[in-house]
Amino acid sequence: MTSLNCLFCRIAAKKAAARIIYEDETCVAFEDIAPQAPVHFLVVPRKHIATTLELEDGDDALIGHLFRVANRIAGDKKISGRGFRMVMNTNPEAGQSVYHIHLHVLGGRPMRWPPG
Ligand code: 5GP
Ligand code: ZN
Repeated sequence: MTSLNCLFCRIAAKKAAARIIYEDETCVAFEDIAPQAPVHFLVVPRKHIATTLELEDGDDALIGHLFRVANRIAGDKKISGRGFRMVMNTNPEAGQSVYHIHLHVLGGRPMRWPPG
């Protein structure tokens, strides 16, 4: 269910501005407003799901689709050969700040491990 109180629902519905890279009936991808790497975009389902903990049986294809869209955009942005990181933060200690799931895609510089 779309919520107009939710920032990423609003971006998906074009009620809030974002630099959208790609969209289809299932998801929207847009540039992160505070990029943490030369390439940093988010892939977000149109369906409002607050955290990964709320994923249901019927969402399996949706999650796969987010990763496949991320792969395709990473290819377009020429970072797939070098490598890139995909992250979904769940709840406060992981740093989740927007409670609508989103796949971070970061690249264009070497990534450290373990992450901070
Ligand atoms: P989280 O901290 O929940 O894992 O990630 C939220 C991400 O959303 C952050 O990287 C943050 O910079 C990004 N973000 C927050 N507000 C906006 C916004 O209004 N527009 C865009 N494009 N990104 C946002
Ligand atoms: Zn939402």
